[in-house]
Amino acid sequence: MSLYLSASTKTKNYMNSDKEVIMMEIRLEEFEALIKQLTTFEKMYEQTRVVDPISKKEIYVKGKYEETRTETLESCYDIWGTGETCKNCISMRAYNENETFIKIETSPDKIIMVTAIPVKIGERIVVVELLKNVTQSMILGEIKLIEGLEIKKLLDQANVAVVTDELTQIYNKRYIIERLPVDIAIAQLENQPLSLLMADIDHFKEINDTYGHLAGDRILKEFAQILKKNTRQGKDWVARFGGEEFIVCLTGTDKEIAWTVAERMRKSIEDNVFNYDGEKIKLTSSFGLHTLGLEELIDYEMLIQTTDKKLYEAKNTGRNKVMS
Ligand code: GH3
Ligand code: MG
Ligand code: MG
Repeated sequence: MSLYLSASTKTKNYMNSDKEVIMMEIRLEEFEALIKQLTTFEKMYEQTRVVDPISKKEIYVKGKYEETRTETLESCYDIWGTGETCKNCISMRAYNENETFIKIETSPDKIIMVTAIPVKIGERIVVVELLKNVTQSMILGEIKLIEGLEIKKLLDQANVAVVTDELTQIYNKRYIIERLPVDIAIAQLENQPLSLLMADIDHFKEINDTYGHLAGDRILKEFAQILKKNTRQGKDWVARFGGEEFIVCLTGTDKEIAWTVAERMRKSIEDNVFNYDGEKIKLTSSFGLHTLGLEELIDYEMLIQTTDKKLYEAKNTGRNKVMS
């Protein structure tokens, strides 16, 4: 007997039958050995569970007061009652960086400490999550637990800060690394296209040299907002990849539509007048576009690399254009 998880787009291990093309297998004996090891934690934690960070599914759950469940694959974030993936998914972080991470999360009536430990089972990496209710034992400076809402607000802010770029206030590189593999897996599972754009400001160095670094910073902020304005809220996301390079992920979007979106962005930038300290600054930008074909099995790093190559072509063939 085997357990199936959605594939790690990182390990590039795919089975070759049609429906299970992006499913991976864990041998039950290896899994049972892990579960045995977990019994030590079960006395100390309210809940111990094994999750697949890519598909965000619980593979195994053992609570102090509940029966073991291995068959029903529920979303790991259901426990928080938010209905959506955590902004600060430490299991994805543990998986990516192969290190243990700890965070504090809140549900409507509890404060819970979550420890995420990456564990190798055969060739696969899953994450063991240990959940401890710390509602009664947490002392947060002056804040009383009665003021739970205030604590929740602080924690939410901290969770968002970890994946936010300080300058532009859009998502940062960490978010890309945590989110893109998940969106690729979803696209493959649901047979949906996914398009990635990479945008880079043309001759940005000259802008810095002419108007100063602070003007450059202001432009980066506005540039990010123009990209964001041209995406669908809740479906697409925009992140700063580094310097003056940005990534836009358009979920469920085929090449034709992605092209239109990228062209609209390129045109908005070209038409925009950036104002800084009385100066009116004009600029252009170049875009690389790659749409993940329905049969295409690549990992997130390869997807970025492919898109970057298109961007490079756009730069080499005159700039201020979209290349796909
Ligand atoms: P190209 O058209 O080929 O993209 O030319 P470019 O000048 O835009 O590219 P290059 O890679 O040579 O220069 C990128 C510049 O971006 C250099 C760097 O100083 C600037 N830059 C990177 N990060 C920041 C930042 O946070 N703020 C500011 N103001 N400038 C930055
Ligand atoms: Mg540039
Ligand atoms: Mg660049």
